[in-house]
This record gives sequence, structure tokens and C-alpha cells, in this order.
Amino acid sequence: MPSLNDILTTMDYGPSPEATGEVSAWLKARGRFGLLIDGAMTAPGPGFATQNPATGETLAEVTQASAADVATAVAAARAAAPGWAALSGHERAKWLYAIARNLQKREAFFRVLEVLDTGKPIRETRDIDLPLAIRHFYHHAGWAELCTDDFPGHAPLGVVGAIIPWNFPLLMLAWKVAPALAAGNTVVLKPAEETPLTALAFAEMCLEIGLPPGVLNIVTGDGATGAALAASAVDKIAFTGSTEVGRSLRQATAGSGKALTLELGGKSPFLVFADADLDAAIEGVVASVWTNQGQICSAGSRIFVAETVAERFTDRLIARLDKLRLGDPLDKGTDIGAVISEAQRSRMLALVARGVAAGARLVQSTAPLPAQGSFVAPGLLLEAQPTNPCMIEEIFGPIATLATFRTPSEAVELANASRYGLAASIWSENVTLAQDVAAKLVAGTVWINSHNIFDAAAPFGGMRESGFGRESGREGLRACLRPAAPPALAEAPAPDFSAAPCPTPAQPQAIDRTAKLYIGGAQKRPDGGQSWRVTHQGREIGLAPLGGRKDIRNAVEAAHKAAGWSKMTGHARAQVLYFLAENLSLRAAEFEANLAETGHDPAEVAQTIRLAFRAAALADKIAGEVIQTKPQMLTLTRPEPWGVLGIACANVQPLLGLAALVLPAIAAGNRVVAIPAMVQPLVAADFAQVLDTSDVPGGVVNLICGPRDDLAKVLAQHDDVAALWYAGTPEGAARVERDSAANLKATWCPTGRDWAAQDMAETITQATQTKTIWVPYGM
Ligand code: NDP
Repeated sequence: MPSLNDILTTMDYGPSPEATGEVSAWLKARGRFGLLIDGAMTAPGPGFATQNPATGETLAEVTQASAADVATAVAAARAAAPGWAALSGHERAKWLYAIARNLQKREAFFRVLEVLDTGKPIRETRDIDLPLAIRHFYHHAGWAELCTDDFPGHAPLGVVGAIIPWNFPLLMLAWKVAPALAAGNTVVLKPAEETPLTALAFAEMCLEIGLPPGVLNIVTGDGATGAALAASAVDKIAFTGSTEVGRSLRQATAGSGKALTLELGGKSPFLVFADADLDAAIEGVVASVWTNQGQICSAGSRIFVAETVAERFTDRLIARLDKLRLGDPLDKGTDIGAVISEAQRSRMLALVARGVAAGARLVQSTAPLPAQGSFVAPGLLLEAQPTNPCMIEEIFGPIATLATFRTPSEAVELANASRYGLAASIWSENVTLAQDVAAKLVAGTVWINSHNIFDAAAPFGGMRESGFGRESGREGLRACLRPAAPPALAEAPAPDFSAAPCPTPAQPQAIDRTAKLYIGGAQKRPDGGQSWRVTHQGREIGLAPLGGRKDIRNAVEAAHKAAGWSKMTGHARAQVLYFLAENLSLRAAEFEANLAETGHDPAEVAQTIRLAFRAAALADKIAGEVIQTKPQMLTLTRPEPWGVLGIACANVQPLLGLAALVLPAIAAGNRVVAIPAMVQPLVAADFAQVLDTSDVPGGVVNLICGPRDDLAKVLAQHDDVAALWYAGTPEGAARVERDSAANLKATWCPTGRDWAAQDMAETITQATQTKTIWVPYGM
């Protein structure tokens, strides 16, 4: 019998496993599962076994849904969509509330089932997965009630195809299903192959509560089932998973008109400044990389510590590492359970071995690993260089790199040196420093003195190759809705550039109508030295520059140099835009004459002036909100400009079509590289003069005339262009979406629109991406 002193020294206590009786009986009674299609479970078909990663024991057999099964499920969802959408928000709210309430009643069952299927500790399913999933349905019951008032003119998308990973199976289901249903869509969900069980239990629960047939359909299977869902007749794909599969989905859906949100991988920085509360930061690491065995997309897997406290912090962190309890995930005292599969275990260990071979020093917990099951000892990789593979690639396991920095600016530089941009945390007692750094980090979510806190009201999603679109909160709901269809205007054919290229004159000539490119605030000859003759009804109007790849590159560079525009206040940008509107007014007659000369409607000028005033008015109104999430947390959303934005205009409305995209974009703080309408590029040259006289800083707007679709491809493939808008043909839009897949650039393709009748709200929304910032408040 240990003495009291022994107990206080070791803090050991006996095992405390959660009972599995009810779940085991349920699994035994089912044995094999079919699919949820059209309000009934199908007979189980050929499929695969799902195992408990902590023991290797087979839990159940599930069906591998074929492409035909997926098509049947989508057809059921399609048939149910009009009825579901026609319900009042109040009626849909009652269904979402019923789901939330019933999930809450079965909380104990679901948390055990999730542990068995994933290997994660019961403490986490009890404290994180289930409460958050339930909260998601409650929160979205509220959104169902409010949606119509909050998003006037919007309509549901139709059928949403949701593809989810294995790390938070029920929670990811909730993230996808709750907002989609609240907004009036029906859903076909594909859970991950490794973890289908809570989705199947959820399916049973929905049948029990009598959710109308077809509103939710669940198809189990592997990647092939996911690919079949992406290829099916859904209206949106909502995906969480690897960047590689996200990229393939971008390609698969390009040009299909399907909406797409991608929540992908990350390599999030965890920044510990010299004045941080080190003990709090150490517990932050536990929550950040050792929760869920590090299998969290937002894990702070790159820890950077101020050099002056690095030794102290590292010693204490290693001591804490050794206190983590590894073992039976069902034991309430377990901190670290099993990783999802042997395949994932081998993959993460192989990557860590490469990191060690590249010079990092691995320190791991010395606690013994269980004899069976897929366990990985948590650890740290010390002394890793920025080029170490473990600093670059997602380990997706309980091992993080730890390196040092000297100054805040070096910390920011190291943090942003990643192709990802999902999340970050900042640990400092200095609020000024923390908020300054938060503003500079390229990340969809920034936590201050905290990490991995989530809430149904807080938008979550990535920047750069961590994907695009947001889930949760108002932004997540918006992503399940379609704005009112704008008035249409057919695209005009492009001029034939090959017909009459001619050298661009070096100097203006006597009666000169030779337009130039506009790059970095200066008129530039095209790099290739070629122009084309702009004609109307057989009459030559002037010469337009034929821009090329090199000109686009120069323009992107100039736009990057104009970063100061994004840092200006909305008020300062508004003043420039008002001035621009005024200068346009002064030259209205000249613009009208130029448009009339090529058969375009002179009324475009008045419309453009109005639009410029409106963009100016909105420049200082683009604001985020403070949202209610957790106690003692202030959660802020901030719409941030993309940075450098590419714009390819339609071949109609040469002045208005350019201004309708460029002005809201710059009002929101972007710098743009725009390809003006090819039918009347001389108007763009005149517009450049107005920019010049209106104090628009050089590089904020760059205008490159030329073969639009070729130039758009260069913009799509350019890694330093954050987002791309394309207003040309549907075929061109498909190409742009495909060409943007490699670097996962966000795209928006408002093709065939009449900008004269367009409300600017959608354009302004598209001009920013949301950053969510969590700040401790009232502790
Ligand atoms: P995947 O991206 O492969 O899987 C996520 C989901 O997509 C699963 O349902 C999967 O099906 C499905 N899927 C796979 N291939 C396709 C396809 N071609 N078309 C449509 N759907 C498809 O992630 P993994 O689960 O394999 O994990 C691999 C790596 O991804 C991890 O090591 C980690 O780095 C990262 N990851 C990131 C996550 C995040 O939250 N950001 C979550 C999970 C993983 P199935 O699994 O059934 O084959």
C-alpha cells in the first residue's frame, strides 16, 4: 500500500475506464451497416471493416458506396431539396433543435463510440468533440430561424456534398451538416473510411426523430466514394482533409458551377515571446499539439520561442511531456490515445525520421507505449532548421518542432514562412505586441494566449494552401447560400489579336491614340513591343498594347510593392476614391464620347461615377464583428484584403465592368492587376490617367491589356497573386479554376453579369477573407 507521501509525489491513481456496454451491444446488434439514403438504411453491401486503433479489434463492417449508390443518394437529396427549402426558417430550426437535443441525450453513447472508432481519449470526446458538435446544432437552429432576415435575397444552394476526415468525425459532420441544413440545403455526407461509426449512429438518430427522407443522406466508403460525390450532380462540395485531395477537388469541380469550400492542412506557428506566461504557454502546447495525438489541422506544430526564455521554456516543456499519460483511450486519466491507423503511424514516424536525419534532435516522452495498438510517443524536434522537412510538411501527429527567434519581426517572418495559413497562436503578456503580431500573421485564425479553441459562432478556415472559404458562424452560413441571381448580360466575342499586330511606337505621335500598359503608376510599353489596332465598324480607333507574361509579372511585383495601400485606414482609401469619383465626373464628357465611338453605351460613365462614390462610401464601413463564443474570450472577425488580386474583365461594359471589379477591390484594401475589356482598351488607358490624377498610389491598380484568357492563366499560376476574379466566358472560368488548383488560389467567376444593375455587396464580400482573432477578456 503506497504511503500518502508516495501518492502526493507520484500523483499516480488507478485506472478509471469508461464503460462500453451500451456501445458494444449496439455494435453487436448491428454488425454490418448499410447507407442512409432517402430516409432509410439500405441493406449492407460489400465493404470493409472499421477497427479500434487502440486495440486493432474490428468494430463493424461498413458498406463501400459505389458511384451508383452516390448517385441514388444525390437524387434523393435533390428530390427532398425543394420541400426542405420551402419550410419556414422556424420549421427548419425545430428540426435542428431536435437533432441538438437528441444528440445531447445520447452524449454518453456518442462519446464512447467516437473513442472506439478513433482511438482518441475519452476526456477529449467528453470535453471537446461532443459539446462542440451539440453546440453546432443549437447554434444553427438559431441561424435557421434568422437566416432569411439576415441574408435577404439569398437562397439555398440546393444539394451539398460533404466529405470529412477521420480526426473529428462527429464534429466535422456537425460543421458540415448543421449550416447546410439551416440554410435550407439537403446533404449527402461521406465520412472518412477509418471513422464511419458516429455518422452511422447519427443516421439512426435522424431516422428515429423522423427527419424528412432525403434531407440527410450518408454514404460510407473510401476516396473513390468521395471522388464519386465530387463528380455527382451536387451544388456544392464542402471538404475538410488533406491539401492534396483538396487540390484534386478543385480540379474535379472546375467549371462545373459547384460551390467549393476547402478546409485543408496547416503548419501553424506557436509563438512564445519573452514576456509570456510560460506555464500557460506550456499548457497551450498540450492543447495545441498533444491533444488528439496532434491530429489536428490547426495544431501549433511549429513552436518558436524567444531566445532569452528558450532554455527555461524547453526544460519545463520536456518535464511536462513526461507527465502526459499514454494508454487506454477509454481511461478518463489518459492524455494521449492511439493515432488513427498503422498507416498514419508509419507515415508520421517516417517523416520524423527524415527530420532527425536533417539535423533535428528528437525528444520523446519516456512513458511506455501500450503493447498493442497504433501509439506514438509525443515529443519535440529541437534544433530544426527552417528547411527541415518537419518544419515544412504536416506531421499530423503528437510531435512538434521547436526553434528560437530573436526579435518580433523575425518571429513573424518565421511564422509566415510556410505555404499554409490556417492558424497561429501568440503568447505574450504585452497586448500591444500580441495584437501587432496578430495583424501581421497570414492565418485564418489567430489565438492570443490560447490555442485550438473553437466555437460554432467563430468562422474557421485557411489562407494560402490551407484552403478557402470559412465554416461556422455567419461566414459559414453565407457559404451555404446563393446571392440573388444578378441581371445577365451576354459576353461579347474577343477581338482577333493575331490579325493586325504592329510595333508599339516608342514615342507618342502627333494625333496619338496609342494606349500603354499601366504598371506601378506609370505608362509602360508592353515587354513584347507589340500593339493591336482597335477598330470599330472597319474604322481604326487607336492602338492598344499587347501585354504578355512578363508584363503581368512586372505588374504583380509593382502591386506587391504597393502594400502600404492595404495598411491605410478605410477613411484614407475613401478620400482617394472620392477624389477619383470627382475626377471621373470632370472628364465624363470625354469618356462618354470614347464609349460612343465604339458603340458602347455612354450611360456607363454616370453609372461608373455612382459606383466610385459608393465604393468610397463603403471603404471605411468594411468591418468585422465581435462574436459571442466562450466565456472570458473576445472573439473578433476581421475582413482582411487578399493582398494582390488578379481581375479579368468581360468584353462588355468596358468602363463600368472594369470599375465594378477594381473599385470595390481597392476600397477593401487590395492591390490589383486587372485585364480590361479587350473590345475598348483605350477607355482603360483613360481610366489610368484618372487614377494618376486622383492620388491612387502607384502599383495599387495595374492595367494590362491583351489576350485576356492567356493573361488570366499567368495570373492563376502566379504564386504571389492571392485571389483571382474572372468575368469572361464560362469556358474561361473553368480554365481559371483549373489553373488555380496547383496553388489553391481562391477564385470568383462572376461571368455574364450586367454591372449596371449590380449591387456591390457581393463584390465587397468577395474582396476580403475573414481572420478570426481570439483574445482573452475578463479573466
Ligand atoms: P484525405 O484528404 O485523404 O481524406 C479526407 C476525406 O477525403 C476522407 O473522407 C477521404 O476518404 C476523402 N477522399 C480521399 N481521396 C478523395 C478523393 N480523391 N476525392 C474525394 N474525396 C477523397 O486525408 P487522410 O484522411 O488520408 O489524411 C492524410 C493527411 O491529410 C493527414 O496525414 C493530414 O496531413 C491531412 N489531414 C488534414 C485534415 C484537416 O483537418 N485539415 C484532416 C485529416 C487529414 P477516405 O479517408 O475514406 O479514403
